[in-house]
Amino acid sequence: MSKSDRELGMQRRITRRDFVHDTSLTALGLMAITGCGNETADDTAPPPGADYPPTKTGMRGAHPGSFETAHALAREGVRFDDPVDLDEHYDLVVVGGGISGLTAAYQYRKRFGSESRILILDNHDDFGGHAKRNEFHHDGVMRLSWGGTTNLEYLSFSDTVLAFLDELGIDVQRLSSELEFRYGADAPAIWFDAETYGRDVLVPGFSMYGRNLDALDTIDQFPISESGRAALKRFYTSDANVLEGMDESEIGRVLHETSYTEFLSRHAGLPDDVVGLFIKAMDGYWGVQTHSLSAAEAMQSWLPGSHLLGDAADQVTGSEESETVAMFPDGNASIARLLVRSLIPAVAPAANAQNIAIARFDYAQLDRPDAPVRLRLESTVVRAANVDGEVAVTYVRNGSVVRVRARHSVLACYHAIIPYLCPETPEAQKEAQRYQVKHPMLLTNVLVRSREPLDRLGISGAYCPGRMHAKVWLIDGVHTAGYRPRNNDTGPVPLMFWGTIAPPRRDVPLHDQLRAARGLMLGLTFEDYEREVRTVLDGMLGSAGFDVAEDILAITVNRWPHGYAYGYLDLWDPEWEQGKAPHEIARRPIGNITIANSDAAASAYTQAAIEQALRAVAELE
Ligand SMILES: Cc1cc2nc3c(=O)[nH]c(=O)nc-3n(C[C@H](O)[C@H](O)[C@H](O)COP(=O)(O)OP(=O)(O)OC[C@H]3O[C@@H](n4cnc5c(N)ncnc54)[C@H](O)[C@@H]3O)c2cc1C
Repeated sequence: MSKSDRELGMQRRITRRDFVHDTSLTALGLMAITGCGNETADDTAPPPGADYPPTKTGMRGAHPGSFETAHALAREGVRFDDPVDLDEHYDLVVVGGGISGLTAAYQYRKRFGSESRILILDNHDDFGGHAKRNEFHHDGVMRLSWGGTTNLEYLSFSDTVLAFLDELGIDVQRLSSELEFRYGADAPAIWFDAETYGRDVLVPGFSMYGRNLDALDTIDQFPISESGRAALKRFYTSDANVLEGMDESEIGRVLHETSYTEFLSRHAGLPDDVVGLFIKAMDGYWGVQTHSLSAAEAMQSWLPGSHLLGDAADQVTGSEESETVAMFPDGNASIARLLVRSLIPAVAPAANAQNIAIARFDYAQLDRPDAPVRLRLESTVVRAANVDGEVAVTYVRNGSVVRVRARHSVLACYHAIIPYLCPETPEAQKEAQRYQVKHPMLLTNVLVRSREPLDRLGISGAYCPGRMHAKVWLIDGVHTAGYRPRNNDTGPVPLMFWGTIAPPRRDVPLHDQLRAARGLMLGLTFEDYEREVRTVLDGMLGSAGFDVAEDILAITVNRWPHGYAYGYLDLWDPEWEQGKAPHEIARRPIGNITIANSDAAASAYTQAAIEQALRAVAELE
């Protein structure tokens, strides 16, 4: 029987609606401290004040206040006419303060001179877009995690991107060599929840990835049908070539026109209850379920099955490029912070790539009238228009509709909003922009008192086939850029819940699935997410001494209804002719306005966000 909210500790005061930080420090004026904390002992710096954005908990990502104006514009057709003209004139206005927008500002100064006056506008209360930092403070200890974009798959970076990171002082090889974090893969598990499977069962040692030949006996513990358990074992141990006798085009059809789930049932002979185990296995990596991925796409991402393909297995081998990564303790938020530090040095004068993870930023410096670069938060752009050889940019801030002018503008925001804020965009281009529906993504960080329950169970993470978040793992072993939690420390420690929201229907086109999942995500309250993570932690760790009412110290839900950039998938998109793909049409310049964002590459990667910003600045005349 499921537990009541009271038994789950829903009434407990945690850092979601209230803060445990010592806010008296703010009153004493200590927020004026800028630069860096102690080199190694992150525990010694005083916690920042309650309004320091990275420390905010509760509903983050698309937090309340960040999206309502854009929805009024795009969904309700609200017009923001008669703006008040501000007495501010810039060389460049950037729409969107994510990695792409910040890179555009950086590159503009390189191309047009460091005296260029630049305004960056973003709708959130923190900069970075998906590159967000989640900072927890408890009992004098700071623990870091990330709220969105995570790592750098640097082996696939172009020389241009590598040179760009080098300019910021980032040594990706060193970051990579210092990385011990393995996304829970070093001690994996699968957790079956009582609501879905009748009883809570944790099976350490089993991984959804690869062939599991060393863990076959763990399958005996799965609470599924006996025939399902036997079929799963046969699947892993079989050496049959299911493509035997097929010609090249038939093989292509099986790999690229068959969904992974269909492959498992039709070609690997797995019954529904076993196929069901794999449906959420790619939620975090792709932002869609495996019924929407082709067999090839799923296997290239290390899901099992390639052992049944004979010689064609080579076509679906996962790449070393995506396996080898570098990362900061707050994910790619450190890149956003290094960019902001470069654009506006006063935010953290002593910060650099070696100590960026522990640098305290002075947000009061972001938007100073005397600085050449200004970054204005909580500002949603509702119109960008070419007027008299300039660009007039209208935005809403604190309920006021205001307008500034600039020589140039780079739109580094989601493409799907551009038709609404830039009505002069040609119709075919608008259609291409609307095609780029982002994949909703969900990252919920939970600060728990201690990692000991996980250690007792011998796990560092688990796949949860029946739950909202597909995976949960310990954040541990990212000791880079000045952040080094004490050795042998058992807690507090962040656990990350990772995935997306499953669409309510699978039998509809992908775009409709993504839109429906986004609607569900936005419709859930913080309490819904809280109840979910409490239920999971209680069921998974309760037997190992985890007290769900006592041991949860803070919860930060990073919801991204507009998450991964829309990339083309085998089952849903045609092979576009060069120059005719939606992203290529969508990013065409419009007068003095050019278009960046990872959408412009149809690729949900940091390197894409950077490259597209460089292109957008190069296109300005
Ligand atoms: C959960 C998650 C995990 C990810 N993990 C990785 C990873 O591990 N590695 C990787 O390389 N990539 C990852 N990504 C992809 C990530 O999207 C890119 O790496 C990169 O951060 C995208 O940057 P961007 O500037 O193009 O877009 P964004 O980060 O989306 O920035 C655009 C900004 O523009 C703002 N904006 C939109 N409309 C307006 C408006 N009208 N007015 C003002 N502002 C507006 C947005 O709110 C946002 O702040 C991840 C993404 C998500 C969501």
